[in-house]
Amino acid sequence: MGDEFLPFCKPCIDQATIDDIVTCIKSGWLATGPRVQQFTEDLKHYLNAPYVLPLTSGTAGLHLALLGLKLEPGDEVILPAMTFVASANTIVLAGGKPVFVDVELTTRNMIPEQVEKAITSKTKAIMPVHYAGLPVDLDPLYELAKKYNLHIIEDAAHAIGAEYHRKKIGSFGDIQVFSFHPNKNMTTGEGGCVTTRDEMLAKDIGVKRFHGIDRDISNRFTKSGSQVYDVIEPGLKYNMMDIQAAMGIHQLAHLDGFIEKRTKIAKRYLKELSDWEEWLLPVIPNYEHKHAWHLFNPLINPKAANMTRDDFMNEMKSCNIGVGFHYSAVHLFSYYRNNFGYKLGDFPNAESIGERIVSLPLFPSMTEEEQMRVIDTMKKVFKRK
Ligand SMILES: *Cc1c(COP(=O)(O)O)cnc(C)c1O
Repeated sequence: MGDEFLPFCKPCIDQATIDDIVTCIKSGWLATGPRVQQFTEDLKHYLNAPYVLPLTSGTAGLHLALLGLKLEPGDEVILPAMTFVASANTIVLAGGKPVFVDVELTTRNMIPEQVEKAITSKTKAIMPVHYAGLPVDLDPLYELAKKYNLHIIEDAAHAIGAEYHRKKIGSFGDIQVFSFHPNKNMTTGEGGCVTTRDEMLAKDIGVKRFHGIDRDISNRFTKSGSQVYDVIEPGLKYNMMDIQAAMGIHQLAHLDGFIEKRTKIAKRYLKELSDWEEWLLPVIPNYEHKHAWHLFNPLINPKAANMTRDDFMNEMKSCNIGVGFHYSAVHLFSYYRNNFGYKLGDFPNAESIGERIVSLPLFPSMTEEEQMRVIDTMKKVFKRK
């Protein structure tokens, strides 16, 4: 095959962004400073959120949001079995017990009825995951939270720019955690942020993200800032760098344009693959929403395709087309089997997704020709007429 390797995702970073990163490095101010402050303001404005805290990663955001719940041993947090493992790991690291629920095969999002069944006297929070950028149907979940007095921490790692009932994810509700990993819809290299409308929680996260120091860190080394500080608890080191923020400021300005392009590509896949019996395509639910199309990932029908997901991935790679895999069902990892007693058969939909899902190439700068190459290669791999 003469064709160049086509990755399944590729961050879109223009020269102006690179120039600003270089300017930042030359300025001598590399860690948290004026660019993080600017990025914070830009995110507040974009997300329409009163408190935004940029961090080193989405995982750091989940960890800090969960620490804010002050979980006691045995306290439970309900989350979908189909997510990235960081959602579950951080629950454990914050002292809680992850309680998995199954997801819908079609939307891959958690099912409110299943969530209600999983609620016990030990439940402290629900963690919905806006999988692939499709907002979870949040109204029923927030009703449950009200009824049972629970917190909601939205794992919005895939969902920056997504909307639910014409409101941006991050502009309402309790707590949202976004990721700026290079595979996500916008990137700062590594990075992430938390949004909340709770002033006390925002202050708590602000202290915990920088050593437990009780003061605005961005003032610390300016002329007006004082060098004296107090430590009110042992904190972590999760503050974002200015080098990251220099990238984030530009990425955020381009985000809506990125999502527009992703949507166009996703819709073309939906149309081109609509009658392929080899795929079960993602289904778009009826409630009002804007999908962020972080991933386009159908489920393979191994019988119709006459191959497994792993065979398919290998065949595509041998034709120089990158494909991704998001994710294995989390309850089946040995840590969760061995420590929480989960086993095969517990969540059939999440398990089926974990075995059949493939992320097809999708990134803003992907051309129509490149997409048609993906589709033509799949035709060959499946031996379609
Ligand atoms: C990427 C991701 C995270 C973690 O974000 P990082 O920035 O990589 O730490 C958490 N949850 C989900 C669902 C993710 O996809």
